[in-house]
Amino acid sequence: MPDLAKAPDEALAVDTHGATAAVISKLKDRFQDRCATSPALRQQHGHTTTWLENQPPDAVVFAESTQEVADVVRLCAEHKVPVIPFGAGSSLEGHLNAPFGGISIDLSRMNAVLEVNDQDLDSRVQAGVTRKQLNSYIRDTGLFFPIDPGADATVGGMAATRASGTNAVRYGTMKDAVLGLTVVTADGRIIKTGGRARKSSAGYDLTRLYVGSEGTLGVITELTLRLHGQPEAISGGICTFPDIAAACNAVITTIQMGLPVARIELLDAMQIRACNTYSKLDLAETPTLFLEFHGSEAGVREQSETFSEIAGEFGGGPFKWATAAEDRTRLWAARHDAYWAGKTLNPEADIMVTDVCVPISRLADCVAETAEDIRTEGFLAPIVGHVGDGNFHVQILVNLDDAEERRRTEAFVGRLALRAIDMGGTCTGEHGVGQGKQKYMAHEHGEALDVMRSLKRALDPDNIMNPGKILPQS
Ligand SMILES: Cc1cc2nc3c(=O)[nH]c(=O)nc-3n(C[C@H](O)[C@H](O)[C@H](O)COP(=O)(O)OP(=O)(O)OC[C@H]3O[C@@H](n4cnc5c(N)ncnc54)[C@H](O)[C@@H]3O)c2cc1C
Repeated sequence: MPDLAKAPDEALAVDTHGATAAVISKLKDRFQDRCATSPALRQQHGHTTTWLENQPPDAVVFAESTQEVADVVRLCAEHKVPVIPFGAGSSLEGHLNAPFGGISIDLSRMNAVLEVNDQDLDSRVQAGVTRKQLNSYIRDTGLFFPIDPGADATVGGMAATRASGTNAVRYGTMKDAVLGLTVVTADGRIIKTGGRARKSSAGYDLTRLYVGSEGTLGVITELTLRLHGQPEAISGGICTFPDIAAACNAVITTIQMGLPVARIELLDAMQIRACNTYSKLDLAETPTLFLEFHGSEAGVREQSETFSEIAGEFGGGPFKWATAAEDRTRLWAARHDAYWAGKTLNPEADIMVTDVCVPISRLADCVAETAEDIRTEGFLAPIVGHVGDGNFHVQILVNLDDAEERRRTEAFVGRLALRAIDMGGTCTGEHGVGQGKQKYMAHEHGEALDVMRSLKRALDPDNIMNPGKILPQS
């Protein structure tokens, strides 16, 4: 049996002939073909859009209810076998890998929208609902769910990674969007956290504890989500800049002035080149901001005029409107496809993507220093970001089989993480820690990391919930 109660580094390799085999046999009896052990499916459930080595779970169970999840977790807890919750598999830092084997619980079939309370602007959904599915379900109510990581992730996975995306500058992240949860704890209990009230002072905020816990404390099976009214008017467009620092400085001023932009996204010249190829656009290959304004007709006009003036101060512009809805959709589709577009720069290369976030006043410094680092290293590495939040991503195209290239890339990612932390920021604004960012946790959190370890031990004493994630080896 794997000794998962010890620190992750001390745990034994998974015992597929003992405890895990016994668990799989019981799961097969109970779930029949909803418990799968085929190598391809296991590999796919360990695989994420990640640069880390694939470590598949021993079996995958497709759960269809909270009770089924609780039953699987209780069985695994009895045998001290790891449990790895799985949403859509779009996480980027090795979150789904199973370094100690175990059972992947796939929640994608738990995809019912259970309630929409349009009077209260909230909705209760199962964890496997995807953000696009929820938005198409509620479209006719005049409401929308604003959190939009590029991928069509599940809301359970998004809560578990505390995801955000292009709209976060206006509408917040999953920490703001989740009002309450149903969670299966590490010992198989079903608990409810939070509720439908917009605020509460009743006790510890367990909802916020589970949001961002990456499946290491429990399995989220239902969520009560905050919705927003669809804006009366939306306008948007793009604005080019002579260099990346000028674009960032325009963003800083925009945010410092309190202009309520709904989206403000930076794409550097290399990313624009990639988007032109992939999304068949013909944009000038220079640092560019994609913007969107939400509000009343007069409000969005005023906001875009103010932004044009700010851009002009930094040598940017003119601001090009995308007034037709289909033009806006095309631009934002290109922005959301930026990850795939990057691949066109070198189709043979592997992709290592990383994100950091800094206080807004340090955005230009952090981006400019990072761009210089990329130039010095000679990397093919576009920069793209949700810059209104001080959050940006670098997508490095690299041959991961080449040990020296891999070493240089990992060193670059390390410098970037430490640069962001030392500027008062974080090693990840939205992608999460998984396996990839653990090495920066001590630098970012200091003593607070010990408190996180205490929480983990209290809520999951046998370390069965997604072991080997978030917390580095002590
Ligand atoms: C092209 C692309 C663009 C992206 N852009 C963004 C972006 O702009 N912003 C952003 O925030 N992210 C972005 N991401 C990352 C990714 O979409 C998010 O991390 C997403 O929130 C993961 O959701 P998922 O359903 O795919 O979860 P998975 O990848 O399946 O799981 C992610 C983690 O959450 C845990 N988990 C999953 N479901 C549950 C559950 N029900 N209960 C408990 N734990 C669970 C898993 O164990 C794992 O640790 C992008 C990814 C891609 C591929």
